[in-house]
Amino acid sequence: MFMAKINPFKSAMQQLANAAQILKLNPRVLSQLKSPKRTLSVSVPVEMDNGELKVFEGFRVQYNDARGPFKGGLRFHPQVNLDEIKALAFWMAIKNAVVGVPYGGGKGGIVVNPKKLSKRELERLSRQFIGLIYKDIGPHVDVPAPDVNTTPEIMAWMADEYSKLVGSWQPAVITGKPLHLGGSRGREEATGFGGVVILKQAANALRLKRGASVAIQGFGNVGLFFARLANAAGFKVVAVSDSQGAIYNPRGLDIGKVEAHKKALGSLTHFPGAVNLTNEKLLQLPVDVLVPAALENQIHKGNAKKIQAKLIVEMANGPTTPEADVILHRRGVWVVPDVLANSGGVATSYLEWSQNLSGFYWGRDEVLKKLTGYMVEAWKNILREREKYQTDFRNAAFILALKRIADAMESRGN
Ligand code: NAD
Repeated sequence: MFMAKINPFKSAMQQLANAAQILKLNPRVLSQLKSPKRTLSVSVPVEMDNGELKVFEGFRVQYNDARGPFKGGLRFHPQVNLDEIKALAFWMAIKNAVVGVPYGGGKGGIVVNPKKLSKRELERLSRQFIGLIYKDIGPHVDVPAPDVNTTPEIMAWMADEYSKLVGSWQPAVITGKPLHLGGSRGREEATGFGGVVILKQAANALRLKRGASVAIQGFGNVGLFFARLANAAGFKVVAVSDSQGAIYNPRGLDIGKVEAHKKALGSLTHFPGAVNLTNEKLLQLPVDVLVPAALENQIHKGNAKKIQAKLIVEMANGPTTPEADVILHRRGVWVVPDVLANSGGVATSYLEWSQNLSGFYWGRDEVLKKLTGYMVEAWKNILREREKYQTDFRNAAFILALKRIADAMESRGN
């Protein structure tokens, strides 16, 4: 009921206003951060396998490039809309500044349910989309990446299409590519890996015991790797979910077996030894740590009071609304924001891009070591801002990012 009414861009602008007020951000910088620098809106014609022509709506929002090229994922989802993409692009600008990689923020998407397309239709859609935006992207202009429902295979088609159009192979135009096409070792698990680095830091700071219980909403790229790595780090993952529902076993789930079950049956439900729950009930479980890793607006003013976790690690983008933030902060719940918790994905995209530009490739351990360094450094910087401004983690992260973006804008004369 609440979800339909929440506009993520309004939430993002509320977060900006909150942090800008605490920081006393230069009003000239603030006014430029209230809207994207450029918005591309395209109609993508695709010939379907039955010969019919369908036109899909697509967007690329280039929010801010003061600190470097626009950077952010592409989402394929039936509920994609411009305000959602604007919010995600803005959060990318903040996130890249938080984790300290030299990028601005961008995001894109196509209004489509890719599960209803054949592989060939999906390829034509991906290539056509690039055909419409290729003049506005590039390794030093705007670098897309995967997001919800977009895969390394789709990134490969897009990198190939771009390269054909500009006349030379340009792997650095897109990150999240397959390994054999210039992808980075460690990129696939990077977002979940980075999230678990932050989970360990936050659990230490909160003095959670070994075996602390974790519930994870979403079992895609992010949720699955987070679940695996959290278990390996000594946490007890007791619940996971996908779009069809959740499973819960207070004694802990064997993530390998859950994965195999989902692969075999296409769904998590009826996993042996676990009870089936709705996604809403998963959020309210008596656990130490809650990890939203699916879509935005999951924790809102209607359910924030019912959340029992002491720590929320936001792996999805925008899972908590500003009203819910106020309630949770008042109740003493730590909310580690998306712009920190899931920044491991873009930090490793940066490592992929750097490898593509230099032509020199690192091993997986080297990549994950560098990624760990970025995450721990960002965590420490945010703790410092939180202490200095006596505020919550989200404001502290935004303050850190806004200082860096403002410095870049001012130095460049904007
Ligand atoms: P994905 O498409 O691989 O997985 C999404 C998961 O969410 C699936 O398990 C799906 O079943 C589930 N889901 C969808 N609707 C749901 C609902 N209403 N309730 C519960 N579960 C639902 O996507 P992903 O790459 O794992 O991304 C998940 C989130 O993490 C998104 O918010 C994305 O923007 C964010 N994120 C992803 C990356 C990355 O590197 N992939 C990086 C940063 C942030």
